[in-house]
Amino acid sequence: MIRLENIYKYYYSESSVTQALRNVNLEFSKGEFVAITGESGSGKTTLLNVISGIDTYDEGEMYVNGQPTFQYDDDDWEAYRRNKIGFVFQNYNLIGHYTVLDNMISALLILGVGEKKAEKKALKYLEKVGLKGFEKSRASKLSSGQKQRLAIARALASNPKILLCDEATSALDPQTTASILELLKSINEQFQITIVIITHQMSVIREICNRVAIIEHGELV
Ligand code: ADP
Ligand code: MG
Repeated sequence: MIRLENIYKYYYSESSVTQALRNVNLEFSKGEFVAITGESGSGKTTLLNVISGIDTYDEGEMYVNGQPTFQYDDDDWEAYRRNKIGFVFQNYNLIGHYTVLDNMISALLILGVGEKKAEKKALKYLEKVGLKGFEKSRASKLSSGQKQRLAIARALASNPKILLCDEATSALDPQTTASILELLKSINEQFQITIVIITHQMSVIREICNRVAIIEHGELV
């Protein structure tokens, strides 16, 4: 589905160049649940950002359904992000003073979904992640586990082919972590959606992932 071939990524500043990804070869198939793990600063977030089209790569090639992406322009990348990618951020990226429902609806409106349909979809996905009854709560008032559930619902509402989670459970206590993982696992099975999760937590890797990619200094080992 998505294949990275000899991917390199650099960050340039006035005084230095950081090689954030080095010769990365990695493939994701439909329905897989993959963990990416490694030390802080090893390139995990960079890798996820490249896969998601949030950031670009400098060398190598990323294939989407067998098609190369080197010639993608900004519109192509935007379409790719909209149609294929759901992203769950470490810090949730919610709008705190909006209600739970409005966090969902606003994301769907941006994607071009009509108002009536957006509300229906929003309610459906909120129920799926266990937030039924919290529609009118302010996002800032939710517990951290509920915030992550909302972030997952929002990411799913665009029907992505691949769900990317950057340290989605790192800030959660063990019990909440377990419940979020259970949710991700059920989403993985129910929708046959590919999930890629960045994590430091060995228990996460052992319990639910089919495969683990370990990254060191920008290189898969
Ligand atoms: P991880 O998520 O594994 O902690 P990152 O992908 O965030 O690692 O970072 C990989 C390397 O790239 C680190 O050396 C980091 O300092 C550097 N880096 C990340 N983002 C930027 C940026 N926007 N500008 C410059 N350097 C960056
Ligand atoms: Mg990171």
